[in-house]
Amino acid sequence: MINNTHHHPDENMLIEFSAGTLETAASICVSAHLHFCSRCREKLLRLDQVGSQIMSQANPIEVADNAFDQVMEKIDSTDLSSTVEKSTAAATTAKNTIDEGFPFSVNKLINTSLISKNWKRLSSSVDVARFKTGQDNYEVALHKICAGGKTPKHDHRGTEYTVVLKGSFSDENAVYREGDFLIREPGDVHQPMGSQNGECICLSALSAPIVPTSPLGFLMKPWLRINPM
Ligand SMILES: [Zn+2]
Repeated sequence: MINNTHHHPDENMLIEFSAGTLETAASICVSAHLHFCSRCREKLLRLDQVGSQIMSQANPIEVADNAFDQVMEKIDSTDLSSTVEKSTAAATTAKNTIDEGFPFSVNKLINTSLISKNWKRLSSSVDVARFKTGQDNYEVALHKICAGGKTPKHDHRGTEYTVVLKGSFSDENAVYREGDFLIREPGDVHQPMGSQNGECICLSALSAPIVPTSPLGFLMKPWLRINPM
């Protein structure tokens, strides 16, 4: 795959991702970006190598002789049947939404965590499909902007991560294409617009509702709350 991404997670995010300390919603977005970006995959590989070198030089700690048996016992005693059933049911209902070009991690989310297989309308140009990701800090969702569709001009009250999965969109600053990773912080005002040549689908994680900056903000009622789950 040719690396066409121009917007990447910063070094600190990759370090935290490598160490396994990055929060869930941000990790989902970073892993989606890695599918598209060989540059960040190479960086991550180097960070993982450094991490394992540090681990190998650390002093070993004592574990009980039967530690391995205890872990295996715990796995054996966990009833996974209901989880498997639920995943299979979700996979059947969500089949239509899976996209071959999407990262594996996103298709897995669609299979197991999509709340409804139907897109919900946010405005005449934007639809949303939300995920249940087992954390309560971020609403994680897919957003679909129709070709040439405009989203309302808005500010952010919290952090927003976005990864373009399909198509492209632009705002006042740049054009964002497949794989691009963006972070918006409070005070970043912008108005995303779908490109004219086709729909754009983005993965996003939002920690607080957006703030409309137009006098017609009251039309944005569906945008004004988020639902982390
Ligand atoms: Zn990258």
